[in-house]
Amino acid sequence: MDNRIVITYGEDIWKMTRDVLKESGLGNLIPKGSSIGIKPNLAVAKPADSGATSSPVIVSALIEYLKEQGYDDIVILESSWIGDSTKRAYKVCGYEEISEKYNVPLFDVKQDSYTVKNFNGMDIEASDKVLSLDFLINIPVLKGHCQTLVTGALKNMKGCISDREKRRFHTRGLHKPIAYLNKIIKQNFILVDGMCGDLDFEEGGNPVQMNRIFCGTDPVLIDSYMADSIGYKPHEVEYINIANDIGVGSSDIDNAEIVVLNRDESIAKPSPSRKVQRLAQFTNAKDACSACYANLIRALSRLDDEDLLHRFKDNPVFIGQGFKGVKREGIGVGQCTSGISKNIGGCPPSTSAILDFLRNI
Ligand code: SF4
Repeated sequence: MDNRIVITYGEDIWKMTRDVLKESGLGNLIPKGSSIGIKPNLAVAKPADSGATSSPVIVSALIEYLKEQGYDDIVILESSWIGDSTKRAYKVCGYEEISEKYNVPLFDVKQDSYTVKNFNGMDIEASDKVLSLDFLINIPVLKGHCQTLVTGALKNMKGCISDREKRRFHTRGLHKPIAYLNKIIKQNFILVDGMCGDLDFEEGGNPVQMNRIFCGTDPVLIDSYMADSIGYKPHEVEYINIANDIGVGSSDIDNAEIVVLNRDESIAKPSPSRKVQRLAQFTNAKDACSACYANLIRALSRLDDEDLLHRFKDNPVFIGQGFKGVKREGIGVGQCTSGISKNIGGCPPSTSAILDFLRNI
């Protein structure tokens, strides 16, 4: 599917996963008899609603889909970040139940042997188990990252190397080794958990309910779309640029084919995160859809980084279906607020579109 991204919005994780897999035709992309690896993001031992880890419901729905398509040689692989135990993460995140129910083994990459592979003069210790697979399905979480701005498909491959290599990645500045790793290990399909990723941190704690799942086959394109979804231009993320330049994939989201299967109609709920609550003070929301509201919160978070939030202190941003037909002065986001004097349309408008609009107010 290369330049195609299939996305759906909503709350029914099982159905959403099934829908995007069916539309993507994943079953036709995998050669028969392949050994398949599923690589979630279980960097830390925290459940998915913390905003840090991949939903076990997505993984279960994926495994059922693969089994229906006739694939039985499936393994789940991960190496949690340095200092956390992968086994503990499997347990806390609900993966032991998946393993039992579907008879799919859980592999701890920390216990594996490694082979040194080289790209462009850089040696990288890659997991032998991962290298032996025929087809790799990556399940990153749509979340921000304090060092690399976004953590997506390319960066999630850090769970496929030794802990020693992870340490070395940091001393090498992260971006170049992340991009180079993706020349050494190819991921074949990416299924993004965009249900409730963290605002800024790999380890969760400030989840933003974003209610979306999307998939594609180009990790650079997927990461570019992820960056855009949380308010960054793809070219602002250094490892996306490098990966694009060395031919891992394309960051050209302007020419991507985005297939939207379903709009989100669920109403945004208050977030337990203090940080998200603080950003919410700059909004005036009435029956805002979760995906739309999440895009606004992400945009406000970027404005906070740029020290521009004060502009909206006495001018909170109107959003939501409760403002349909309302005519008044102010700032409105989404087609429901088209009667507000300064408005950006869209249903929902993207984070980057909201950000550009609010920056120029
Ligand atoms: S514009 Fe209105 S209907 Fe559309 S996503 Fe936003 S709140 Fe929902």
